[in-house]
Amino acid sequence: MAEDYPREAALRPAKGCFIDNRWQPSASGRSLPVVAPAEGVIFAEIAQGNAADIDRAVAAARAAFEGGAWSRLTATERGRLLMRLSQLVLDNAEELAAIEARDCGKPMRAARADIQATARYFEFYGGAADKFHGEQIPFMNGYYVTGEREPLGVTGHVIPWNYPAQMTGRTLGPALAMGNATVLKPAEDACLTVLRIAELAAEAGLPEGAVNVVPGLGHEAGAALAEHPGIDFISFTGSPQVGTLIQTAAARNHIGCVLELGGKSPQILFEDADLDAAVPVVVAAIVQNAGQTCSAGARVLVQRSIWEKATARIAERFSTLKAGLPADDPDLGPIINARQKARVEGFISRAKAEGVPVIAEAGLHENAPAGGFYVPPVIFGPVPRDNVLALDEVFGPVLAAIPFEDEADALALANGTDYGLIAGVWTRDNGRAIRMARRLRVGQVYVNAYGAGGGIELPFGGVKKSGHGREKGMEALHEFSALKTIVIKHD
Ligand code: NAP
Ligand code: MG
Repeated sequence: MAEDYPREAALRPAKGCFIDNRWQPSASGRSLPVVAPAEGVIFAEIAQGNAADIDRAVAAARAAFEGGAWSRLTATERGRLLMRLSQLVLDNAEELAAIEARDCGKPMRAARADIQATARYFEFYGGAADKFHGEQIPFMNGYYVTGEREPLGVTGHVIPWNYPAQMTGRTLGPALAMGNATVLKPAEDACLTVLRIAELAAEAGLPEGAVNVVPGLGHEAGAALAEHPGIDFISFTGSPQVGTLIQTAAARNHIGCVLELGGKSPQILFEDADLDAAVPVVVAAIVQNAGQTCSAGARVLVQRSIWEKATARIAERFSTLKAGLPADDPDLGPIINARQKARVEGFISRAKAEGVPVIAEAGLHENAPAGGFYVPPVIFGPVPRDNVLALDEVFGPVLAAIPFEDEADALALANGTDYGLIAGVWTRDNGRAIRMARRLRVGQVYVNAYGAGGGIELPFGGVKKSGHGREKGMEALHEFSALKTIVIKHD
């Protein structure tokens, strides 16, 4: 339990729930400890919001949406406020990056990049706010028909701990651009930047009730938000198990949802791949955020004719990797908490016990504290196709290498899991790249590149167990709005 860890003397105290542009104490009066995963110490507390706090937050959002100052702004004005928020995120980038690095254990350079991306989300959607609109629809003589883009109302957002700041920009950006009023439940394990961004949103001038954040536990505050009859839509990123609960709650209330539930994304190395370009990207795509990225490149599928050469080069790079403290800017940081660390280690020890060969293992940085939740990266291969490592999401720095014979085999293997989020194809043959891109059952395909989580402009989301709906890019504006058809008869 988190309560068992040593507590820092200068603890950051809980501020409460951020509702109606001000800190409000949680109804429970209780707080939760926040652990720095790189050190295994408690360094802050957050309020333990519950159903009563969610009630207040939804009511605040409802008032903002129905007649409040927020509802009276034009799209241009909403866009300007988002631009201002983007600038405030940049103005406070170093503070936000330091908090994110401590809260999640990320290397500082990764935390800085995350904050830049967060600002870019608000900038992108600020710019888009008054450029995504309805249309005039040709109809019968004597009729004038328009399709008008409307906000959905009060939108709920449940986000995970792996990219708290970025995820806030990604989900609130389009929701606010379209004029929805929002209630966000961040993850218990890492939510300090989310709370700070809510404060910055108020400072930017977003009217009260537009952005409300209730920290707390998933099964309390999260479930209360998902089940609340006062919300009109819910956006969720996290595990497939909780995704099922969210979608069930949405179905009961007859509202829509967008779900992003992770993956087992393949990087496919054909024999004509440029290995100089591919190898660093393949390694970075599983090491980024210690493998705790929904679109991590968790499988590398290698054509048998280059198996020895390609795996040797990946191994060479893998064995030099070091996990350590954010301030040392290591290759990767720790796993988010002790439970997840044990889960990842369970995958590794089971695979070893089953005799799956280890191709290479990395190590720890000399400064890595003993109390941190570190798991050094490991690459296994050849991983049998029916092994759990070839099929299930580990959510840690574990890469499964699997050989394939030809294009048809690569495709069957790539599509052969329950997931379908993103894929990378490495080949110099354009015809093959296009054939593969069309047939891969995923939401995003990269050719001779791979962007785990990257690209604010690029629509993103999955098929199958990876979820449905799309966030990012202009596509997210469809998710967070509805088209109303207005038919006017005239003489
Ligand atoms: P999770 O339980 O799905 O958590 C995601 C979010 O949902 C958190 O804010 C969580 O709150 C909340 N939540 C939990 N139970 C809920 C409920 N009953 N109703 C509403 N909201 C609820 O994920 P996790 O336990 O942190 O991680 C477990 C696995 O999920 C990972 O190993 C990984 O496979 C997957 N995962 C995927 C992503 C992704 O980006 N796709 C991100 C994170 C995890 P609390 O955390 O505060 O309880
Ligand atoms: Mg934390």
